[in-house]
Amino acid sequence: MEAEIISVGTELLLGQICNTNAQFLSKRLAEIGINVFYHTAVGDNPTRLLNVVRSAEQRSNIIIFTGGLGPTKDDLTKETLAAHLGKTRVEHKQAMDRIHNYFKQRGIEMTANNRKQSEIIEGSVVFPNDHGMAPGMAIEVNDIHYLLLPGPPRELHPMYDRYTIPYLQSLFQEKYTVHSKTLRFFGIGESMLEEKLIDLIDQQTNPTIALLASEAEVSVRLTAKAKDLDEANERIATLEAELQARVGDSIYGYDDDSLASVVSHLLKQKSWSLAAAESCSGGAISQSFTELPGASEVFAGGIVSYSADAKMNALGVDADLIEQYGTVSEQTARTMAIQARKLFSADIGVSVTGVAGPEPTENKAVGVVFIGVSTKQGVEVFAPRLSGSRQNIQLRAAKYALFYVYE
Ligand code: ATP
Ligand code: MG
Repeated sequence: MEAEIISVGTELLLGQICNTNAQFLSKRLAEIGINVFYHTAVGDNPTRLLNVVRSAEQRSNIIIFTGGLGPTKDDLTKETLAAHLGKTRVEHKQAMDRIHNYFKQRGIEMTANNRKQSEIIEGSVVFPNDHGMAPGMAIEVNDIHYLLLPGPPRELHPMYDRYTIPYLQSLFQEKYTVHSKTLRFFGIGESMLEEKLIDLIDQQTNPTIALLASEAEVSVRLTAKAKDLDEANERIATLEAELQARVGDSIYGYDDDSLASVVSHLLKQKSWSLAAAESCSGGAISQSFTELPGASEVFAGGIVSYSADAKMNALGVDADLIEQYGTVSEQTARTMAIQARKLFSADIGVSVTGVAGPEPTENKAVGVVFIGVSTKQGVEVFAPRLSGSRQNIQLRAAKYALFYVYE
C-alpha cells in the first residue's frame, strides 16, 4: 500500500497556515504500516487540483485529501473529484440531519450552500463528522482508494482515529498488527549510532529501524508487523537484544520517557531530592522537572543565577573565585552545585554555567559549558563541548546536566 497526501487550500500556499494535517496523517499512517511517499499542497483551484490528482494516480493506491469539504465556493475537493471519477454527488441523510439540527438549535436559518456539505460522492463509505458538519468519505475506483477528509484539525483528528483507521485496516487482506517501541539514547550521536547499527539498518525488513535525532538525543524506533501483539513484541525483543548488546550503554529510556522523567523515577526509588543552580540553561532543568506531575517529591527547587552578582548573592559563590576563574569555569560550577545542594537541603545539587552565545564571553568560546553534580560523596564537574544556536546550547546544557545526574 503506497499512500500520498494532497492538502487542499490556498491559505497553505500563502503561508498563512502550516500543513499540520499532512504531518498528523503521515505519522498515523506510519503507525499502521502504510508508507507515505508524497505530500502535495495545492490551492483551491480545480484545474491544478486535477493535475495533482492525475499525478497521484500514477504512483499511489491510497490518495488522501484534506480540506475543501466545507460550504463555501472555494471548497471544491468533492466536486472536482466526483466529476473526475464520473460519479454523481448525493445527499447523505445523517449529515443533512446533523446540519439541520445545528441550525435549529441555534435558531439560525440554513443557507443553500450548507446543503452542499451534506453531499457525498455516490458509492462512498462515509466517515461521520462528530465535531463539524461535512462528513469525510472514501471511495475505491480502479483499485485506487480516494479518501476525503475535512481541513480543520479538530474535525480531522477525531474522524481519522475513529472512522478512517478501521477503514484503512480493512483494506489489508490479511489483518495484522503494527507495533512500535522507541529506544531513547543520550551521549551518542546519530552518525555514530548509525555506524554501529548499519548492517542491521541495511537488512531491516520486519521490524524496521528508524533513527530520529533531536536536541542532543537520538531515538531508534523499532516497528514490527505481525499477526498479533505478542508476535510483534517478540520480533521487537529479538532485534532489541541485538541493539542492547551493541549500544545498550547509551540507552536511557523507552517510548515516552524523557531524561527528566527517568531521573525523577530514579530519585523517587532512592527517596532522594535534587536542586538546581542554573546559569546558561536559564531554568530549563527546573522546567523539565516541574512539568512532570508529582515532581515536588524529588525536585526541591532551583535558582537561575544568571549574573555574576546573582551567583555571589543568591548562591554565595565567592567573589574572589569568580574574579580569578570567571563565571564560566569548573570552579564556579563546582561551587554552584555545592551551594544548590546546601540551600535546598537536597541530596543532589546540579549546576550549569556556560557560554550559550552568540558571542564568546570571558574569552571562552560559544558552547563551553561546565556542569557540576554535588552529592554527599563529593562534587564532580563535567565539561561537555556543545554546539548549535543559543537556544540549542541552552537546552542541550540542561539535558547534559540531567544525563550526568542520571549516570
Ligand atoms: P470548513 O468546513 O471549515 O470550510 P474544509 O474541509 O472546507 O472545512 P478548508 O476550508 O480547506 O477545510 O480549511 C478550513 C480550515 O482548516 C483552515 O482555515 C485551517 O484553519 C484548517 N486547515 C485546512 N487545511 C489544513 C492543513 N493542511 N493543515 C492544518 N490546518 C488546515
Ligand atoms: Mg472550507
